[in-house]
Amino acid sequence: MKVGIIGGTGLYEMEGEAIVVETNYGDVEMIFFEKHDRQIFFIPRHGKKHKPAHSVNYFANIEAMKNAGVEAIIATSTVGSMKKEIKPGSIFIPNDFIDFTRRKTTFFDDEAVHIDMSQPFCPIIRKILFEEARKQSIAHEGVYVVTQGPRLETKAEISMLRNFADVVGMTLFPEIVLAREKGICYASLCIVSNFAAGLQEKLDIEEIKRIYENKKRVVLSIIDGCIKRLPEERKCDCKNAADKGRI
Ligand SMILES: [Zn+2]
Repeated sequence: MKVGIIGGTGLYEMEGEAIVVETNYGDVEMIFFEKHDRQIFFIPRHGKKHKPAHSVNYFANIEAMKNAGVEAIIATSTVGSMKKEIKPGSIFIPNDFIDFTRRKTTFFDDEAVHIDMSQPFCPIIRKILFEEARKQSIAHEGVYVVTQGPRLETKAEISMLRNFADVVGMTLFPEIVLAREKGICYASLCIVSNFAAGLQEKLDIEEIKRIYENKKRVVLSIIDGCIKRLPEERKCDCKNAADKGRI
């Protein structure tokens, strides 16, 4: 199984060979390397100049993974916690999400494909990722709400959203849906970098940076442990999601 890693804020580089993959949405630079007898393809989600979440070329990134033959993606990101018990510095593995963005959502503009989202994350990879995360850090699981950005949320928005979700971030959507449309297994590993608005004093960007810099080694180690344990053959149903949703 070829594995893709999408690096979020703080994870911009990995050692390997730089390659360029063509897509219908532009060329994508990837890093290729081998680990635990697997071929790994890495893309820094935000590119070299750190495009903000609402401007990331999610379509190009996911199509590049597909064109490279990737069957499973592990994606990292930083999120804000909306729950007191989920503290900055911990790891969060989402098991569901809510989309509050206003972004383009699908590869299928000209045919009716209604993809099932009752289990958006790959159940097998997500479970391995959570087990590996718990070995190395305090780790939680729950619901990730995706906001449009680039502005942060208001206190009123957070007091509404926290009734339905645990953490807030800007990059999970549409990435997860596009991966599912391409039949790629997808799981997400989030670093909790701060409490959301209203749950702590004004957000300190330097403090947030310090947390994800400190967590980088742990995140890489969790990913490494996960790659080691990934099954060679896929037994989940992720690869059939688009076909099953086609009318
Ligand atoms: Zn899967």
